[in-house]
Amino acid sequence: MLDLIDTHCHLDIAEFDATRADLVGRCAAGGMRAILVPGVGEAGWTRLRQVCDQYALLLPAFGLHPCYTAEHRDEHVAALESWITPDVIAVGEIGLDTFHGDQDFERQLELFSAQVATARNHHLPLILHARKTHDQILKVLRQQKFSYGGVVHAFSGSLQQAQHFNELGFAVGFGGGATYDRAQKLRSILKTLSLDYVVLETDAPDIPPSFARGEDNTPFNLFRITEILADVLQMAPADLAAHTTRTAQRIFGL
Ligand SMILES: [Zn+2]
Repeated sequence: MLDLIDTHCHLDIAEFDATRADLVGRCAAGGMRAILVPGVGEAGWTRLRQVCDQYALLLPAFGLHPCYTAEHRDEHVAALESWITPDVIAVGEIGLDTFHGDQDFERQLELFSAQVATARNHHLPLILHARKTHDQILKVLRQQKFSYGGVVHAFSGSLQQAQHFNELGFAVGFGGGATYDRAQKLRSILKTLSLDYVVLETDAPDIPPSFARGEDNTPFNLFRITEILADVLQMAPADLAAHTTRTAQRIFGL
């Protein structure tokens, strides 16, 4: 048994329809106390809400993901307001991504800034997606004097950037990426940060860990991911689980 929270899992999507009930049952039986399910686009918010209503373990966040910028409309940003009910734990997943070029960067920035403002109005934390954009995201958070914290999920920045996020009240999310022996930079960041600013995640079905290479990732893999990361940190898996769970509870007010 490990006291875990998967702070980032796309368990709402259709490819989990056949396995969701079994996965949620196995995760709960193993000690997982919550799975945070972030939204990616307005078209999926109804399903996300319905799926989270079916399982007490699943906690929803709503947001417009930067990788689907072409699908997002200004009306969707406005509609976000009406999806924020008291059990919604964050605004996300939102952010900036220039991994494949930055043609639509100005539009990404517009959508991101508007959603940060929405979260600020509702006193909600953020679930952030950042690829090659950590400094630009920090700039927006500082400009808006955003003080409700959150998580930078699947962290891929530098140690210095992680520390800047920590200073603004943001934890850093680690998962399958850090299970690979070649992830030396990521592992050294994990070893350096305080666990008060570290949370665990799978990003399932994406980012398969080293022991499930080539397969779809699942939230159940978080148990073994935790064992591997605890080994990296030379600590007991139960201690890593308990500490990062406390961090997630503080960040998301659980
Ligand atoms: Zn995601």
